[in-house]
Amino acid sequence: MSLSCAFTTLVLAIHVYLAIGCPQLYGVQAPYLLYSREDWGAVHATDIHPLKTPVPYVIIHHTYLPAACNSTQQCKAAMKSMQNYHNSLDWGDIGYHFCVGSEGGAYEGRGWHNLGIHAGPVNNYSIGICLIGDWRVEQPPREMLETTKSLINTGILNGAISPTYKLKGHSQIMATECPGTALLDIISKWDHYSEEQFVINKKDN
Ligand SMILES: [Zn+2]
Repeated sequence: MSLSCAFTTLVLAIHVYLAIGCPQLYGVQAPYLLYSREDWGAVHATDIHPLKTPVPYVIIHHTYLPAACNSTQQCKAAMKSMQNYHNSLDWGDIGYHFCVGSEGGAYEGRGWHNLGIHAGPVNNYSIGICLIGDWRVEQPPREMLETTKSLINTGILNGAISPTYKLKGHSQIMATECPGTALLDIISKWDHYSEEQFVINKKDN
């Protein structure tokens, strides 16, 4: 098979792969697979309110439980268990906008345009991304961190996240261990990390 023929075959294969409802490939510098709600078997959301975008904050979470997932199958199960749990709290859907697995897959929660339930007073102003697992002591794998960065970049490109956004861990907003000391230490070295106290600007209300 010639090189150009091999390339054409590859392109066709990718198109067929995407056309049959498999996860979509996103990310320019660090490609990642995005699994839609349909892909992981979400039940219908009952709490649907538009999020005013672009948001000025990205809030990082861990789950503590469910534990880290290392395969698509495990991560889909984790998504379903989180949605079940959050529905049992009467939240009407999984609280987070997106979650990320240790295998580097991104999983759609409420998506880019719906209001989430993940960080109390900041829900109206933020996208919440949850890194599945307990990251108090253990560090998340590189694939998970790369996908998280790439996911934020996708949010900027599609207008959901402000290009001047501030990045924070959940514990900077509320009294919680989330996203875990090890993960907070890592994101504190990322661009856009903000140590400042969160203050709601009244004119934005
Ligand atoms: Zn959290």
